[in-house]
Formats: sequence, C-alpha cells, structure tokens
Amino acid sequence: MSKPETPAAPNFLRPIVQADLDSGKHQKIVTRFPPEPNGYLHIGHAKSICLNFGLAKEFGGECNLRFDDTNPAKEDQEYIDAIKSDVRWLGFEWAGEERYASNYFDQLHGWAVELIKAGKAYVDDLSPDEARAYRGSLTEPGKNSPFRERSVEENLDLFARMKAGEFPDGARALRAKIDMASPNMNLRDPILYRIRHAHHHQTGDKWCIYPSYDFTHGQSDAIEGITHSICTLEFEDHRPLYEWFLANLSVPAQPRQYEFSRLNLNYTITSKRKLKQLVDEQHVEGWDDPRMSTLSGYRRRGYTPEAIRNFCEMVGVNRASGVVDIGMLEFSIRDHLDATAPRAMCVLRPLKVVITNYPEGQVENLELARHPKEDMGVRVLPFARELYIDAGDYDENPPKGYKRLEPNGEVRLRGSYVIRADEAIKDADGNIVELRCSYDPGTLGKNPEGRKVKGVIHWVPAVGSVECEVRLYDRLFRSANPEKAEDGGSFLDNINPDSLVVLKGCRAEPSLAQAQAEDRFQFEREGYFCADLKDSQPGAPVFNRTVTLRDSWGQ
Ligand code: ATP
Ligand code: MG
Repeated sequence: MSKPETPAAPNFLRPIVQADLDSGKHQKIVTRFPPEPNGYLHIGHAKSICLNFGLAKEFGGECNLRFDDTNPAKEDQEYIDAIKSDVRWLGFEWAGEERYASNYFDQLHGWAVELIKAGKAYVDDLSPDEARAYRGSLTEPGKNSPFRERSVEENLDLFARMKAGEFPDGARALRAKIDMASPNMNLRDPILYRIRHAHHHQTGDKWCIYPSYDFTHGQSDAIEGITHSICTLEFEDHRPLYEWFLANLSVPAQPRQYEFSRLNLNYTITSKRKLKQLVDEQHVEGWDDPRMSTLSGYRRRGYTPEAIRNFCEMVGVNRASGVVDIGMLEFSIRDHLDATAPRAMCVLRPLKVVITNYPEGQVENLELARHPKEDMGVRVLPFARELYIDAGDYDENPPKGYKRLEPNGEVRLRGSYVIRADEAIKDADGNIVELRCSYDPGTLGKNPEGRKVKGVIHWVPAVGSVECEVRLYDRLFRSANPEKAEDGGSFLDNINPDSLVVLKGCRAEPSLAQAQAEDRFQFEREGYFCADLKDSQPGAPVFNRTVTLRDSWGQ
C-alpha cells in the first residue's frame, strides 16, 4: 500500500448529466467556467473548475472558458493571462479559443432592442438611489418607476442615445419590465444596461453602455450551446430571471442552470476583493505569494495540481453549506508528496560538527535511496571529518526520553555512522558554535556492538553542501474564521504574524545544487519543500516549505 485511499465524496450533478445523456435530451454535454477577470483564481475557483471541466471530461463533453467581462472598470489583461495559465496548470484545457462575454455585446444589444420592441423593456431615468428606494425590500413590494410606461418609440430613441454616448454615467438605465411586486427581488424590473463611459480591455471604446451580469450570463450560455450551466448557490434566486430571458428572447438554445454550494475553507479567505486588498496593501508579496489561497500562490508554495484536484474530489459537490477543514487540503498535498517527492536532507540551523577520530582528507561517498518505496535511484552524500547538524538536535540539558544528541550521548547520522558528542565549543557569550564528536567505524549499516542507539538525525557534509535560503510558510490567518473580526477590526487583524519565517545560511545536501525551480522534496524530519519559482538561482536555491510532515497546528 503506497498511499491511503482517499474516497471521493458524492457529486449530485453526475446522475443528472447521466440521465440527460441516457434520455437523449443531450447527445453531448457542454459546460463552461466563467470567471470575471478581476482577480486571480483561488481555491474556491478550483472547485468550480474541477467540477465543470471534470464533468465534461468524464462524460465525453466539452468545457468552455468564458471570461465574464461586463465590468471593464475592474478587469485587466493581467488577470486574463493569469487565469488561463492557472486553469492549464490545474490540468484542464478548454474547448477551442477562450471566449469572452464581450464577444456577444452586439447580439446582446440586439436582444435588448428586441425586448424594447416587444414592450418588455424600458429606459428608466431614476437615479441609482431613487431606483433603490423604488425597489422595495424583502417584506415590501416595489413601486413602478414613473418612466415605466414610456412608448416603444421613446424607449428605442433613448436607448440609441444612451449607446451614442449622449448621457453621463448613471443618468439612465435600460430595465426589463417584469414585476415590481414580485417576491423575488431579481424580477423587480432588473437592469439590462448601464451607462459606463469606460475603456474595455476587449472592445476598446466601442461601447459606453454595458450589459448587466444577469442579462449576459444565460444568453451567453445559449449562444455557446451550454447544456448544464453550473454556478454557486447564491444564484439560485437568479434562476427565474435566467429562465425569463431564455423564454422571452429568440435564443438558439435552452441551457439549464444548476447551483451547488461554494467551497469555504477555514483559516482561508476566498473573496477576490479581500485577496486584492492583501496585495494592494502589501500584506503579502503579490497574488502569487505562497501564503495566498490563489492557485498561483499554492503553486509557488509547492502544491501539486493532482493534490488540489484530489482535494476537490474529496470535498464533493452538493447543496449544503459548510466549512471544509484546511487539514483536508493539507492531507491531500502530504499524501501526494509522500508518494512522489524524493527525499533529501537540509539543515535549517546549521551547527558544525568535527569528527575528531575521522582521518583528515578522507571522504566516503555514501549512497542513500531517493525514496523509501518508489524506485527513484540514489543520491550521494560525501561523509567527511566536518559536517553540519541542526542546532536543535543537540541539547545540553535534554528532557527525559530525548532521542537526539546530548553530552556523551550517541545518535545515528541518517544513512551513515553512529557518532558520540564529546565536547561542545562555546563562544564568549556561551553559545555553542561547534561540537566535537567521535564516530564508531563499525556502525555503517550496522547496529553498534553491545548497546542500542535509538535516535537518527539528519546532517550534511560541510564541503559540498549548498548554502540556501529556506522560507518557512505557515497559515496566513491565525483564526479559523478570518472574516470574523474583533469589534471594530477587519480580517487584516487576523493575519498570523508568524506566517513567514525566512532562514538564511541553511545547508542542503550536495545533490540539491541542481534543484530546478518547482522541484519538490521531502527534507527529512522537516517537511515538504519546493524550489521557489521566482527566486531560485542555479546553484543558489531558495526553498519554500509547502507543508509540515504532520499536522502540528496549535499543538
Ligand atoms: P466575484 O464576487 O468577483 O464575482 P466570484 O467568486 O463569483 O467573485 P467569478 O470570477 O465570478 O468570482 O467566479 C467564477 C466561477 O467560479 C463562478 O462560476 C463562481 O460561482 C465560481 N466560484 C467562485 N468562488 C467559488 C467558491 N468559493 N466555491 C466554488 N465555486 C466558486
Ligand atoms: Mg461572480
């Protein structure tokens, strides 16, 4: 058994898709992943990506990547590029070219005119504040706008002039004429078009009116022949509107919307607005800071696409709201790295050791397996008179049951000999700067004669080991629900001040000199680490801690 089975949780959409294929309702399913390019993708998006692309893959269908780009003010090409790269990194490929809702602006405009002509849409002159007051509340019906009964001709004229740029932002809006008394607020004459004099990353300065999300989404689905339009539960109340547009417009297809519950992870923020705030206010290094819940952050941290996909399978797809424990995500990455990451030794806080009875100038090249189970070959560790162990592995006043090195105690150096600590050299301040030890030549691959040595510690040779920087990352937030702030505070007050500890002057075993960006290792006894994508240089690697070996949070 190389790894524990991680059972997938149920996905309620699988049987729905299966039934639609069995009944012949659809010959082939088409799904889509519709991000708004106003931020980087995060772990919540990963759930939606795995669901949409995963269903298409599983049932021989297709999944489109469609940028939902109706709000040019907040969108940016940088986000488009990052989203494409992250979807591919996660292991998925969209059907054909990426698509943009803005590709459909002409068609959407035509449909708006169609609604006006049918007496089902009107230009409203209420200001946004007035419109809000007219809208009513959950307990009170709304009131009709005084502009609701304009003639078709007047509406066509005003809408054309909106499009021509005659009016300032917010002066007018095009609204559907549905029902201001509907118990569903979304049906109270929803906005179809707003005036926004803004440059758009795809359409340039062609438009100064932009369609609303609701007026765009379902029709874009119809244009693309989407069969199953899967979104998160907060859109459940929008479904009647989604269907109203499909029923009242000459659309080429009738997609169906399904909702599932979004992923909430404890200790984690998945609001794009707040992630952007972390970046803008420089609480983190950028969107791809290894502490961020973004896919590019997880990637830099050393997470694998497999682990994230597997995590999404474990979470399952349902309609129940809940918070998933981050331990599940950490389990998933440990599980994958345990099976795939070669082992290596890296001493984080080096303490020099001199083996006084080892001949000067002598070197033995010891071979250690790269992996305990998988066949990954060996790496070579030159054993010589001088080496480094971790300062934390020597204790002058060891607690009871201590299994590492203590005065006159013995310990095995991993894959090597048993050594005994004979003397600690101290500086003027009493800090230990060097250990003098002796080794037992009869203990390579053998137990010592007549005594037991329980402890095994990691080490690296002084000559040949690589000086490196190691970044110990921890959870970015110290509270399980980072959104919940103390009185008057914000989520920023929950930032874990120890989420990053940078160690310089660490020493990695010689084989790590060749580490390439994104190579992953288990540093024995320390955790899983990944050579940083951005800052690793040939011969001077920087290692990011992906995850500890065990879940030790709060212990
Ligand atoms: P915004 O508030 O900016 O709209 P969003 O989270 O809805 O943020 P989108 O870019 O619109 O971001 O999301 C793209 C897709 O990813 C949507 O279908 C959305 O439902 C889905 N999604 C976003 N967050 C989650 C989440 N936490 N869990 C599951 N799916 C999510
Ligand atoms: Mg959205």
